[in-house]
Amino acid sequence: MTNVPELFGSMVFNDAVMQERLPKETYRSLHKTIENGNELDITVANEVAAAMKDWAVEKGATHFTHWFQPMTGRTAEKHDSFISPQPDGKALMEFSGKELIKGEPDASSFPSGGLRATFEARGYTAWDPTSYAFVKDGVLCIPTAFCSYGGEALDKKTPLLRSMEEINTQALRILKLFGNKEVKHVWTTVGAEQEYFLVDRDLYDRRKDLIFCKRTLFGAPAPKGQEMDDHYFGAIKPRISAFMKELNEELWKLGVYARTEHNEAAPAQHELAPIFATTNLACDQNQIMMEIMKNVARKHGMVCLLHEKPFEGVNGSGKHNNWSISTDAGTNLLEPGKSPHENAQFLLFLCAMIKGIDEYQELMRVCVASAGNDHRLGAAEAPPAIVSVFVGDDLAEVLDCIEEGKPYAGSKSGRMEIGVSVLPSIPKDSTDRNRTSPFAFTGNKFEYRSVGSSQSIAGANTVLNTIMAEELGQFADELEKAGKKDFNKALNDLIKRTIKEHKRILFNGDGYSEVWEEEAKRRGLANLKTTVDALPAFLLEKNIKLFTTHGIYTEKEMRSRYAILLDSYNKIINIEAHTMIDMARKEILPAVSRYAGDLADILSSKIAVSESVGIKVSHNMEEETLTTLSELCDKALTQVVRLETLVAKTDHRDELAKGEYHRDIVIPAMNELRKTCDAMECLTAKDMWPFPQYGDMLFNI
Ligand code: ADP
Ligand code: MG
Repeated sequence: MTNVPELFGSMVFNDAVMQERLPKETYRSLHKTIENGNELDITVANEVAAAMKDWAVEKGATHFTHWFQPMTGRTAEKHDSFISPQPDGKALMEFSGKELIKGEPDASSFPSGGLRATFEARGYTAWDPTSYAFVKDGVLCIPTAFCSYGGEALDKKTPLLRSMEEINTQALRILKLFGNKEVKHVWTTVGAEQEYFLVDRDLYDRRKDLIFCKRTLFGAPAPKGQEMDDHYFGAIKPRISAFMKELNEELWKLGVYARTEHNEAAPAQHELAPIFATTNLACDQNQIMMEIMKNVARKHGMVCLLHEKPFEGVNGSGKHNNWSISTDAGTNLLEPGKSPHENAQFLLFLCAMIKGIDEYQELMRVCVASAGNDHRLGAAEAPPAIVSVFVGDDLAEVLDCIEEGKPYAGSKSGRMEIGVSVLPSIPKDSTDRNRTSPFAFTGNKFEYRSVGSSQSIAGANTVLNTIMAEELGQFADELEKAGKKDFNKALNDLIKRTIKEHKRILFNGDGYSEVWEEEAKRRGLANLKTTVDALPAFLLEKNIKLFTTHGIYTEKEMRSRYAILLDSYNKIINIEAHTMIDMARKEILPAVSRYAGDLADILSSKIAVSESVGIKVSHNMEEETLTTLSELCDKALTQVVRLETLVAKTDHRDELAKGEYHRDIVIPAMNELRKTCDAMECLTAKDMWPFPQYGDMLFNI
């Protein structure tokens, strides 16, 4: 039996370890740094580094690394050993405060979107003491932020930390207006539910599309898909459960509260939900989770696919980003309260979010945009590319009554007066039924469902924090001006007005339906179907203003991020197209040709028998199959040649033009080629098909 409490966090240099191992004074100043964001004194840093090193060595570490999250969306690490040569030829294990605080990795190969000139390849990493160091594979990993030499953020973490500061500042202003003076800090909290697929490693290794693109570019549907709904929450098979057991243990060691695991809707698809944490921790933990999932799967002879759409025709994978705000006293500010006072405060936070999502819909789409996620958003799958907010029927009615000044049936006094009436208790269950909404209020938090399974959650949470900070700031300005005496009236007006002006973003119906698409258009909501449609919106004037005003990104940083995202989209489509050409030319066409050759041989010998011996031998199957396959083969060849010509074009005006070209010309050509090849797959003998098929991959584990 695993002793979970003993295992949990055993590889983490957490608060308990620090308290135990650091001199009292050192521990105290480190805490001050963490709480107030002060600069760390070098003598303190030296002591922390020494204690950290001793602890890590006891855990079997020989190296350390500044662990950071460059714009690739993954994590990066460069290992340095603790070894320090001594004059007598021996070696000591050393680690200084300087090494702890700052690193200077050669950053020239990380995407910078033009921020870092090649002659100044250096970047630097700086310790983020709010996230604990940990030991992984014999390496002490120190969570860090990653910047260019000029101080521009080159990573996902820095803007996220900046946005957490902003929302703290603005939320505190609001709390103060409500007379709450004890709260010192406000955090956003996140629990990111991670979906993934598991496939057998031997099968994976035989598919170039999985190896190069992490998704299948060809593949006829298996006879059975997810139509029976028999996988969702189904019994977990032994091989999977052995994987999950080890995954949990590895995550627990690293202090990740992995809690819920279950089979998802699609066959071979699963989900792991952690217990929520402060947003930057949740972001680090999600990165660790993705990495450990991949490693543990390998050990069990499987490959973990984090791509948003590994298989056509079955659900893709996302990451449900549960988001809330909480005070340092542990009060969840999105929890409807029990008193009129708490209710009023809750409604204000709720309205701030509604207003923010409405005003910055495009940003919500931009922050989840990627080539992989385009297969989910804007396609015939959850959630749609149109951003809307679901609040549930009960709360929708409350908002409606407030706006109209109508009596509310669920309220004792009948009327809903903010700051006076008590909100009806809203049963949590009734808030979570709509699974088609991209952004749903689920009782005491919002769940953003559009984040892609392979994406870092930093981008989405940076946007959520920032828009919320902006709206809370605007609300605080207005309410502060009104003064204490008129506070209630000002609050009532503000909430009413906000509902009136922004209710178009509220939608409780079926987000997948065509009716909604039309309705959303009438309401003037954005419908940015692809990454190429969405990315330019990042640079809209209102968005630049939002981020620069709050100090989240400089305009230069925004332009660099736009360039990186566009470049990455273009590269992904290019790699996919090349992989298709490669597979079609070297594997599919030769295999079909061989099978057609076999059919032709059999056909001619059957005809020969008929003619020479005079027995009538039927050869309909060979003839028909051969005819159809030959036609399809010719068609596929033409399509491959066309795709080759298309990908050879390089004279695009700029990256955006290239993106549009990929979206409008290359992807449709890829889809055409796939259709033909999948049709051939359906007609070819199974033992002659050059790689594993959907039925093999989705149902064999
Ligand atoms: P369900 O999806 O059934 O509603 P839960 O409500 O238990 O399940 O939570 C789903 C995810 O939301 C979990 O990862 C959980 O940690 C997270 N979560 C719960 N409360 C909060 C919160 N206040 N802030 C952020 N995430 C939360
Ligand atoms: Mg959920």
